[in-house]
This record gives sequence, structure tokens and C-alpha cells, in this order.
Amino acid sequence: MRIGAHVDPTDPLAEAAARDAEAVQFFLADPQGWKAPKPREDAERLRAADVDLYVHAPYVINVATLNNRIRIPSRKLLLGHAAAAAAVGARGLIVHGGHVNAGDDLAVGFDNWRKTFAYAADSGGFPLPILIENTAGGDNACARHLDALGRLWDALGDYEVGFCLDTCHAHAGGEELLGLVDRVKAITGRIDLIHANNSKGTFNSGQDRHDNLTGGTIDPELVVAVIRAAGAPVIVETPGGVEGQAADIAFLRGQLGAAA
Ligand SMILES: [Zn+2]
Repeated sequence: MRIGAHVDPTDPLAEAAARDAEAVQFFLADPQGWKAPKPREDAERLRAADVDLYVHAPYVINVATLNNRIRIPSRKLLLGHAAAAAAVGARGLIVHGGHVNAGDDLAVGFDNWRKTFAYAADSGGFPLPILIENTAGGDNACARHLDALGRLWDALGDYEVGFCLDTCHAHAGGEELLGLVDRVKAITGRIDLIHANNSKGTFNSGQDRHDNLTGGTIDPELVVAVIRAAGAPVIVETPGGVEGQAADIAFLRGQLGAAA
């Protein structure tokens, strides 16, 4: 099982080494901005690395919304990030499930997701797996609650879509971690990546506030159980920089090794 961390994008391989990580996730552009990613000078080195790479798309992307001024640039930005992520040899591009605005029909949001994949298919399809991630908050989210996730996957039925399960988002979003992998897989058929995070927010608080694995409101053994059940690579998106994340990675290796 490959275990790693979300790191600063300046030198992801150095960050991986500093944490003894087998995988890293990073941004290719400002996560709060709309700027297209620039080609990376270290692309060849990244592609050749024995560290598994994942790219997280900017948070501003929301391909589900009925608001054209957000949806259309979101679609373009997602395609741009997919091309840039593929260029560095990433194994997947993680993007949040998005939401519609209050009063808007969530069914249209799911169909907007379908249109996003159709739009990509028109230009040859996404060049790497797109991993849709569950989110913690909001009443109109496409991938917070499993009933919505089921409708999203129904809408995307014709396309190859991956899934990234974030343990903090699930807990804070109001989904019990016990048995969650089976319930998710019954919908998606797959879990491509685990974001292993504890949660500062309580169960169903809707708060997206990550904590280190042995802190927070989730029993750390439940996070370990999710990872074991999913059998997927793991990225911690936890605070504390090198020290905090290295401790989280070591904790997981210890737990997973101890009773694997
Ligand atoms: Zn996450």
C-alpha cells in the first residue's frame, strides 16, 4: 500500500523524501485561482520518479453549478489541469464533487457532470483518471451524502470515473466510517485513492477542517479500517508540515503493518 502526503508543489520529490512517502499529491496552480497551470520544468524528472504522483485540481472548480460563469470556466480549467497532470505522469486528478446553489435542481448538477465528461470525450477524453472526491459541507452537494453520490454515478454511467474517499469529509459530512467502503463501492465499484485525514469538526458538522490522524474527532482505528478495506493508495492532507505528516504516515504504516 502506497502512503504519502499532500505537499508544497515547488519540489514534490524532495517533500516525499523528507516524509519517507511513497506518494505525493500537489497543486499545479493556485488552488483558489482560475489561472491555467503552466508546464513544469521538472516534468521529465517527475515522470521518471518512483514516487506515485497525484494532482489536486483547484477548489474553485465546480462543474455541477447551474451558474454558467462558474461552470464553463470550471470545465476548461479541469481539462487544462488534466492535461498538465498527465504531462507530469500523475496517476489521477482529484476534483471535488461540487454543488448547485440553494433552490437549484441537483438533477441538473448531476447532468452538468455528465456534460463535462461528454465535453472531454469530444476532445479525445481525459488523459488520466479523474477521481471525484466526496466533500464535507453544503446542502446541495453532488458528493457529500451517498444518496447524491449514487445519483451522480448514475448520471456518469457511460464514462470511466474514479473516486477519492476523504475520511474527514465523510465524517464531517455525516457518513459513518464503519462499513463505508462497502457502501461506497456498491455505488462506484471502486475507490482509487484514500485521503486519510482526521477531522476537527464533529460528525455531520459540515466542516472541512483536517486534523492529524491521532487528533480530531474520529477514532484513528476507523481511518485505518477504511484504508484496509479500500486497499487503495493513501494521501494524508494533514497539518504540521513535514513533521506532522511524517508522523501520520509512520502511524499508518505501523497500524497497517501490525495487523495487515
Ligand atoms: Zn481531501
